[in-house]
Amino acid sequence: MNNAINRREFLKISGSFAAATTFGFPNLLLPRRKEKLGVALVGLGRYSHGLLRPGLRVTGHCELRGIVTGSPEKIPDWQGEFGFPDRNVYNYSNMHEMADNDDIDIVYIVLPNHMHAEYSIIGANAGKHVWCEKPMAMDEAECLAMIEAAEKNRVQLTIGYRMQHEPNTQTLIRYGREKKYGQITGIDSGGAFSGNFAQGDWRTFAAYGGGSLYDMGVYPINAIRYASGLEPIAVTGSLSTERKEMFPDVDESAVFELELPGGIMTTGECSFAKNLNHLDVKCTDGWYRLNPFSSYTGVQGETSSGTLLPPDPHHQQARQMDNDAVAIKEGKHPIVPGEDGLADVRIVNAIMESSRRGGVRVEL
Ligand code: NAD
Repeated sequence: MNNAINRREFLKISGSFAAATTFGFPNLLLPRRKEKLGVALVGLGRYSHGLLRPGLRVTGHCELRGIVTGSPEKIPDWQGEFGFPDRNVYNYSNMHEMADNDDIDIVYIVLPNHMHAEYSIIGANAGKHVWCEKPMAMDEAECLAMIEAAEKNRVQLTIGYRMQHEPNTQTLIRYGREKKYGQITGIDSGGAFSGNFAQGDWRTFAAYGGGSLYDMGVYPINAIRYASGLEPIAVTGSLSTERKEMFPDVDESAVFELELPGGIMTTGECSFAKNLNHLDVKCTDGWYRLNPFSSYTGVQGETSSGTLLPPDPHHQQARQMDNDAVAIKEGKHPIVPGEDGLADVRIVNAIMESSRRGGVRVEL
């Protein structure tokens, strides 16, 4: 806990410094290079390539300055576009040497889920701020180890839940906090896509953190928590798999109930076998919903009073990375701290336990 206090104090001090320099004498005191923080992507798979790379072309507060990859053939393409020097290219064995590299301020962990904890901790121990993709890690112990490493090294730890940065989602969160439609009486959310995975894909194996609950279930779980602003006190759940040949030891689908304080029952669903993309909130005086609620583009909504929430055109991942970079620069709490990822992982593991025990109620 001492570390937490030290970190908060440190961030407060560095935050006031950043505020003074940025707003007071931007060109005099802040080295030009640090106007944008340097990001190193760790793992150059589909999400890094398809979504974060385009995002990093338009971010204003951070830029890509390095990569960590086990695939040397990918290096020229990334280096060619972003123009970082050879010394900013790392592999999984020498990533810790980043400690000596001032170009890089942040590592963004975009690896299979079973590797999130290990590489987040290596990044934090190298003195870098850590952004880590969802789900934060495999279990509570891994999440706590990540939080501890960040506190010990006085760096920020932020989870890549992009929805909490999305404007319509933020409006929906505000409706809940302001009780605009009265008290919330129920929430239903589904995150699912109908897909086939290649043989050997890590998402089809338990040891890699595969399965629909880790991959898609965290969207409705996180949504129920951010929409209500409440932490579930108990869960029930059921995991299932139809295509055993594709998913030998993980869930293809899951349904669950999260019980919120005050007896508010909420329901969630995730799957690799159908399409679902909604967040419906019922209240004593009306309702509101987002549909789709977790897509990369086009998140939109409506309310019982006829308000429409049209899609925001901004690049979602760029907005997320810029918000998270500003939090670091200004020494503020990030929108999605590690504790938020930990809460979801606890719930995921409790749903798994409930399913293993025949759907019993598991208290959190
Ligand atoms: P991917 O399989 O496309 O990429 C994974 C990368 O990790 C690859 O470059 C691969 O070479 C590398 N890797 C290193 N060691 C590996 C190993 N032992 N086994 C397999 N791959 C290894 O996966 P992805 O879709 O890019 O997902 C990566 C992470 O990003 C996951 O945690 C996922 O949940 C997350 N993600 C988040 C979003 C979002 O919207 N926030 C979307 C997609 C993925």
